[in-house]
Amino acid sequence: MSALNELYKEIALCQQCEIAKFRTNVVPGEGAEEAEILFIGEAPGWHEDQQGRPFVGPAGQYLDELLASINLKREQVYIANVIKCRPTGNRDPLPVEIGNCRKWLEKQIELICPKMIVTLGRYSMVMFFPGKSISKIHGTAQKRDNVLYYAMYHPAAALHQQSLRQAIETDMLKIPSLLVQAKNMTETKSQPEQLKMFEV
Ligand code: URA
Repeated sequence: MSALNELYKEIALCQQCEIAKFRTNVVPGEGAEEAEILFIGEAPGWHEDQQGRPFVGPAGQYLDELLASINLKREQVYIANVIKCRPTGNRDPLPVEIGNCRKWLEKQIELICPKMIVTLGRYSMVMFFPGKSISKIHGTAQKRDNVLYYAMYHPAAALHQQSLRQAIETDMLKIPSLLVQAKNMTETKSQPEQLKMFEV
């Protein structure tokens, strides 16, 4: 059994938050174990809770379309969320839930070792771009420890706000060339590990 599958078993046993009692399924994440790109959303919704899979509702269908726009299928990337259980009543994740769940995401990043981490929405953005505002930094990337971090709007927000739709679609189209940059910087590891903004 792969280390990621072992991790899923551990996550499924987690009862640290109150919302664990109400879940139908835990939603650890899914995708290629050696994915070059890791997408991180917010939290499972109703559909995800029912199926135990991330991004399978309307926002997920839109994410699939966005991936198709850069010739990717979801099986070629990895998709996870900041928290692994559905917040009751579709509320936003609580700080305590984000804190409790952080270790699972950290372990996933360690095992997958992606070249690029794409944050979808502000909950995952603040974990990697603290103090920033999504409206200012969406579509921009930062290098840290040989990973390229890239912020995008959440597909659900873009579905509900026509004005964000253009932005998310344009931002998605920048990913292929950013991935090339991300791979090149891994190869030139000798560079000082400074935060670096990339022009895209
Ligand atoms: N929204 C998310 O942030 N994650 C999902 O898995 C589904 C919708």
